[in-house]
Amino acid sequence: MTNPPASSISWDELPLRPELKSEHPYGAPQLDVPVAINVNENPYPPSDQLITALTRALGQAATALNRYPDREATALRAGLAAYLGDGLTSEQVWAANGSNEIMIQLLTAFAGPGRSVMTFSPSYSMYPEYARDTNTKYRELPRRADFSIDWDQARQAIVADQPAILVLARPNNPTGNGLKLAEIETALALTTGLVLVDEAYQEFSGQPSAISLLAKHGRLVVTRTMSKAFAYAGVRLGYAAAAPVVIDALRVVRLPYHLSTLTQVAGVIALEHTESLLAQVDHLSGLRDQTIGRLRALGYEAVDSQANFFLLGRFADRHQVWQRLLDQGVLVRETGPAGYLRVSVGTDDDMERFIAALLSAAPVVARKAHP
Ligand SMILES: *Cc1c(COP(=O)(O)O)cnc(C)c1O
Repeated sequence: MTNPPASSISWDELPLRPELKSEHPYGAPQLDVPVAINVNENPYPPSDQLITALTRALGQAATALNRYPDREATALRAGLAAYLGDGLTSEQVWAANGSNEIMIQLLTAFAGPGRSVMTFSPSYSMYPEYARDTNTKYRELPRRADFSIDWDQARQAIVADQPAILVLARPNNPTGNGLKLAEIETALALTTGLVLVDEAYQEFSGQPSAISLLAKHGRLVVTRTMSKAFAYAGVRLGYAAAAPVVIDALRVVRLPYHLSTLTQVAGVIALEHTESLLAQVDHLSGLRDQTIGRLRALGYEAVDSQANFFLLGRFADRHQVWQRLLDQGVLVRETGPAGYLRVSVGTDDDMERFIAALLSAAPVVARKAHP
């Protein structure tokens, strides 16, 4: 038996699960650039008022950091239930370190070996990773060319597979298109499994939340996050609304004391400042539509979106366009269907700098205004 040292041991010499051997960690490049419009963050930092309240509350909480946090996140869940409205109680609400953690808890509790998760591609690149990590079979059904879902076609596959969890991102990432409440009810009628509606970008959509369907549908789970509209990505706080028994199942699989005291306090303070945190949502949605309109007028293809990002294309060599934008200090995301780049809506100034950079990075052939 050889004993390779830590400095040189490789994956091949470790009992790593074979399916992980060719995998890479998730992640868009984190680069320090003037215009970071790549991971759908809200570009506006917290208000001074919020920072003051947060600093005070965290200081107070720090005096008890020798103790474990409240395992049930009681105050935070009560605050989230009140924020979500629709008559929700704390027992119907759950919170974790980002909605990503909630989703992996859902797969841990409801999926796993011998079970499957199904979604419609293209969609969020983390879904297959949750499936991989929980040993769950993962199946993607194709979307139509306009990224909508063909329910007649989906019906057969859903009925045949009976996935443990059917995942619907609404609005979808990376395409930005929405989903009608009636379509969610169609999905619920087709499966005996859970229907997970990922509403990470709900606040930008101007549409009613799927939470309004919870009263009628016990197998529906709606996840939300403070990472996007709430401008609180650094806190890592996601939440879910579902039937109390679904939440109980998540409580079974969560890690002990999974949500730190500091995170819980930061969440409670955020809920006391929803007005200022969400203040820019309407502006960002308007700027999104305006930017899409400008890009189209310039001759680019930009896809309508209900989120705080949109697809831009189509480029013969999208990596080259991505690199040329980056060379000018503009970081977008190289993701989505072939030929497209995904652009987050930043500040007004970000959008000006992005469009200026794009015009030199990818001059539009069709834009032959000058003879
Ligand atoms: C950003 C995003 C999330 C949110 O992730 P957090 O873990 O809450 O930061 C969830 N789903 C989709 C589709 C997203 O794009």
